Amino acid sequence: MAFFYSFLAGNRLDFVNSGMKKRHSKNIIFKPYEQDQLQFLPPSLEELIPANHLVRMVNQAIDRMRIDSLIESYKGGGTSSYHPKMLLKILIYAYTQRLYSSRQIAKVLRENIHFMWLSGGNRPDFRTINRFRSSRLKGRIEEVFGAVVELLLEEGLIDFRDYFLDGTKIEANANKYSFVWGRATKKFKARLQVQLKELLKHIDETNEQEQSRYGNRDLAELGEDAEISSERIEEKLKELDERLHKKPQDKELKKAVKKIKDDYLPRQKKYEEQEQILGERNSYSKTDEDATFMRMKEDPMHNGQVKAGYNLQMGTEHQFIVGYSIHQKTTDTSHLIPHLEQLQQCFGELPARITADAGYGSEENYDYLESKNIQAYVKYNNYHYEKKRAFKKNAFRVENLPYDPASDSYECPAGKRLIYLHTKRLKTQNGYSSSRRVYQAEDCTGCSLRSLCHKSKYNRRIEVSHQLNAYRKKARDLLDSKQGRIQRSKRPVEVEAVFGQIKHNRHFRRFMLRGLEKVIVEFGLIAMAHNLMKWQARRLDLPKMTAILLIQFWEALTGKRNFLKHDKNSYLQIG
Ligand code: SF4
Repeated sequence: MAFFYSFLAGNRLDFVNSGMKKRHSKNIIFKPYEQDQLQFLPPSLEELIPANHLVRMVNQAIDRMRIDSLIESYKGGGTSSYHPKMLLKILIYAYTQRLYSSRQIAKVLRENIHFMWLSGGNRPDFRTINRFRSSRLKGRIEEVFGAVVELLLEEGLIDFRDYFLDGTKIEANANKYSFVWGRATKKFKARLQVQLKELLKHIDETNEQEQSRYGNRDLAELGEDAEISSERIEEKLKELDERLHKKPQDKELKKAVKKIKDDYLPRQKKYEEQEQILGERNSYSKTDEDATFMRMKEDPMHNGQVKAGYNLQMGTEHQFIVGYSIHQKTTDTSHLIPHLEQLQQCFGELPARITADAGYGSEENYDYLESKNIQAYVKYNNYHYEKKRAFKKNAFRVENLPYDPASDSYECPAGKRLIYLHTKRLKTQNGYSSSRRVYQAEDCTGCSLRSLCHKSKYNRRIEVSHQLNAYRKKARDLLDSKQGRIQRSKRPVEVEAVFGQIKHNRHFRRFMLRGLEKVIVEFGLIAMAHNLMKWQARRLDLPKMTAILLIQFWEALTGKRNFLKHDKNSYLQIG
């Protein structure tokens, strides 16, 4: 019998094996394999998908969501459109499966029963999927993402009380060597301006007849030091063309006009365009002009190479993504306020507590958080260092100099006074004004401690912001409190773990789309996919999650770590 089946299957190895087995008097029985057998009642896709499958969760969640503005964006008329809910379900489920390319998604719609079930048999092609993602969702993703967060609130999975904020850089879909540096543009433009001015001056000086008529007016009108814009160069060229028309034999003038037309004017236009794209940034990529060159955490070559990317700011609660924003500048400090403003616009309120690392501990941010009545568990630069003995024992540090509010002066280790000199006004990129009070030592001449104290040729000067010091003290008290210790211990397993899940587990380290608006849509889909997967994990693995949260809580309370093998992967596995 075994011989017969092996022969039918055409498997020679099986045949040999069956022969060998025969010697041991054992029968091999294969399951029936009949591809051509027709079924009287073919199974429906519905039956093939398990009740607890993630695809059902995605389906139910999006069915419950209100996406009115997305539906209203369809004008009507013409041919029928695919339903936006169906396309949204497909995209989000694809993102949970690490499928980010529209062509791959179109392929699985033809081959994968989960996608077939989700799409109800519809098969939009990759162009339709891409158009929906990059155009239809543009400017509407915040509302769709907000609808997912509202579902989480309804389910009691988050309560919008805690907000763990952090930032990470994600590579743009841009060539590594397509950079335009702001500093280089400035330098080349300045050099071009010098050459241009010299040439124009030379033209005016050599042409005596024109000199008597125009004098030095051209350059004087332009302003010797002012920049000559491309429009002004074009105007000047018209004048020079007129002169040339009257004096066609003037070879020098002809050569100069050609040089300006063919070289200086195009270069000036190019630099002006680059400056406009740069805005306040230091660099951009020619392939994705919205992307800025920044240092990434992922540095496989270990050479610190900068890559075109975006700065993602993200806030989580219980490892659910509650808010995100994407920025073009590298530093996190200036992004806290715009990020929270966006969050407030989306949900109409702000969380009660915010926990963030030292990258956000600026006077402007503390001031904003206080004005919004938010408890700021936000570290500042020296938060950890000031607890060390080396810091405490260093009597020369500004922070350790005794201050006398009555005389508004500090006392140095040599017992001399540092008296108030003047106030410095500062303005941040967001327009926030702050002040620094400058104090100077009365006389440092001949002081034996000078080499330990400062390196200046003059008397020692210090700059102090009493306002910032007050905010820091408040933050320190909060961070050192019992609740503060809990918040600090939670931060790495909250937002940082979510970065790990997205970048490491889901391999999302590079955007597929180009341009800021499209990148915002793309990350919105990632965030929704993450939240639904986390929700599903909570539903299926509640006891495990509860145990881990209890252990975290116990660790936070007792200060003992490593009770649970405390590498991030143990958290990363969840969901
Ligand atoms: S160098 Fe000047 S500020 Fe420093 S300890 Fe001596 S007197 Fe005081």
